[in-house]
Amino acid sequence: MVDLKTQYANIKEEIDTAIQEVLDSAYYVGGPKVAAFGASLEKYLGVNHVIPCANGTDALQIALMALGLEPGDEVIVPAHTYVATAEVIALLRLSPVMVDVDKDSMNVTAELVERAITPRTKAIVPVHLYGQSADMEGIMAVAQKHNLFVVEDNAQAIGADFTFSNGKKKKTGTIGHIGCTSFYPAKNLGCYGDGGAIFTNDSELAQKIKMIANHGQSRRYYHDEIGCNSRLDAIQAAVLDVKLKYLDEYAAARNAVANAYDRAFANIQGLKTPYRSKFTTHVFHQYTLQVLDGKRDELQAFLAEKEIPTMIYYPVPLYKQKGFAKFYHGDVLPVTEYLSDTVISLPIHTEMSVEVQEKIIAGVMSFFE
Ligand SMILES: *Cc1c(COP(=O)(O)O)cnc(C)c1O
Repeated sequence: MVDLKTQYANIKEEIDTAIQEVLDSAYYVGGPKVAAFGASLEKYLGVNHVIPCANGTDALQIALMALGLEPGDEVIVPAHTYVATAEVIALLRLSPVMVDVDKDSMNVTAELVERAITPRTKAIVPVHLYGQSADMEGIMAVAQKHNLFVVEDNAQAIGADFTFSNGKKKKTGTIGHIGCTSFYPAKNLGCYGDGGAIFTNDSELAQKIKMIANHGQSRRYYHDEIGCNSRLDAIQAAVLDVKLKYLDEYAAARNAVANAYDRAFANIQGLKTPYRSKFTTHVFHQYTLQVLDGKRDELQAFLAEKEIPTMIYYPVPLYKQKGFAKFYHGDVLPVTEYLSDTVISLPIHTEMSVEVQEKIIAGVMSFFE
């Protein structure tokens, strides 16, 4: 699905130098490389505070911990997402309220979120799925009206731009009260291990987040609240600081592949190519098709035979997962169900040769001939 080997080979010298500096410095956790990367990412995103942490799931958990919610408080999440988004809510004894998504954008909308609000609702966690932003202007308006926090799950969309109706642009993850991301190797900004970060423009929240990620301590051995231990190590920060310079280039490379796929599949009746919401750029963490006429699994098997890897993100709605069923008592969510049965993601990455693209395109086309 991704080619991290070639990507590394293309920036090997810079990466190796940066890692060697960490080895020589003996600052393995924290220290100058982590601080430098945090500052670079703040600048890139145009956000006041970036707090690096151990992974994207921790980022979400720490963000929610910083909001001071009470057990049983409701947090709205899309039912069509990666498990981590809802997992941390349940882990904190909050109540995940799963809502349906829009069939075109495959993201939550302001309207779907607003319908799920009750007097117990305290926060919304929109996910910018596959690499394009949910309607953050609409969602922030709903949040403001009902006095709710918004924590953006930006693990799949780092680098995407959201454009407001007045023409102003902001990076995804910097619009809500807090934004979270993951630096898992296969993410758009990936390190060589685990990593994550939390973003906010609110200095008070930033202070609290830093404290929680560091055992709740305000100064060494003084623990003002219950926190956790979530750190980005210096080797990962060194890798990320190099790769951040290429992030926009990488997004452009992904878009070129997506455009080639779009062109090739435009006239296939049985396929719906990814919809582009007008208010956001797309960074194509995934290129996700909808396969109509119940043929998704057949297409996947057909492509596997031709050694073309594909993935289903995600095959089971969250509320149908054994661990999450108890949190949901409503009707099935029709679009979530539909997407679970129809989506398929094709390989897409930053180093994809035209030959490889053509092989994948030919494979898909031949299925529909
Ligand atoms: C990857 C991902 C996460 C979790 O990140 P990890 O670093 O793997 O913990 C959370 N939410 C979404 C939408 C993701 O894609």
